[in-house]
Amino acid sequence: MKRRDFIKQASIAGLATTSVAAPAIVHADKKIKWKMVTTWPKNFPVLGTGANQLAKLITDMTNGRIKVKVYGGGELVPAFEVFDAVSRGTAQMGHGAAYYWKGKIKEAQFFSTVPFGLNSQEMTAWLYHGGGMQLWEETYAPFGVIPAAAGNTTVQMAGWFNKEINSVNDLKGLKMRIPGLGGEVLKRAGGTPVNLPGGELFTSLKTGAIDATEWVGPYNDLAFGLHKAAKYYYYPGWHEPGTTLEALINKKSFDALAEDLQTIVLNACKVVNQDMSTEYTAKNNAALDILVNKHKVDLRRLPDDVLEKLKTLSDEVVRELAGKNKAAERIYASYDKFRKQVTAWHEISEKIYYNVR
Ligand code: CA
Repeated sequence: MKRRDFIKQASIAGLATTSVAAPAIVHADKKIKWKMVTTWPKNFPVLGTGANQLAKLITDMTNGRIKVKVYGGGELVPAFEVFDAVSRGTAQMGHGAAYYWKGKIKEAQFFSTVPFGLNSQEMTAWLYHGGGMQLWEETYAPFGVIPAAAGNTTVQMAGWFNKEINSVNDLKGLKMRIPGLGGEVLKRAGGTPVNLPGGELFTSLKTGAIDATEWVGPYNDLAFGLHKAAKYYYYPGWHEPGTTLEALINKKSFDALAEDLQTIVLNACKVVNQDMSTEYTAKNNAALDILVNKHKVDLRRLPDDVLEKLKTLSDEVVRELAGKNKAAERIYASYDKFRKQVTAWHEISEKIYYNVR
């Protein structure tokens, strides 16, 4: 019989427990219940299951001292109210992506993804070892929220279109679901960006409420059945080259934890950050194979002149964002400095290796 069970049994039997053991039992039995609200459909591959994994890791690693219950988008709060829910303490944790809160904090977008910016490996490197994490913490501090990188989509796909994109002109009048800075770029190219939670994409595309949508990549897009709602599948995902997914933690709830529990929560996020991105890398191509060979999806590369135009507009949009306020300026300066040096390194490492292997 385990010591704790023995003592519990002994207590039930009315036997005295020692005064030395008592405080330890109180501590061990104290269960903290946390809610985690997410922007994803419940149990959605990688995004939803990654959030589940994060909750389970925290519960398991703390031996049940913290129990985390996960809610899908719309279950406890609407998908796009996750940040507010964590900020006001309705939920102790959240899982989403920083660009969803651009209406509230413009500069938060730097912590999800930047069009033509850092890829997943580089983004994680900037956050962990390039000063990004500290800037992110400062950005959310006024809202009583602690951020943590908790997943990365890796390079996404440009998306699903019901009309061909042969020139920049084809973007004009295009009503497309595309979040974050990419949406602003599309607007400048003459399109109409729409932000919708993932769960609404299929119906919106199928009914013609939107002409195009991006979501993530083959593995996630296949799960939503987007190939049944659009003809063409374009690449590359210029607008989301390595989107960091985030865990949000209510600061008061975090501060109330014992130090070992705090360490576990933050490191569980690190595990999930790595695990989700590798799951995409492992599964995307098999899904693409099914899309192309089984469902006969018309896979296309965006023309060079379209990508060039989008790149020019992206640089404009990102520089303007950097000029919005002091915080955005500081974050951009850090991001851009890191981008330059990591690009120089990757020119003679990752990039050349891709070309020669
Ligand atoms: Ca996306």
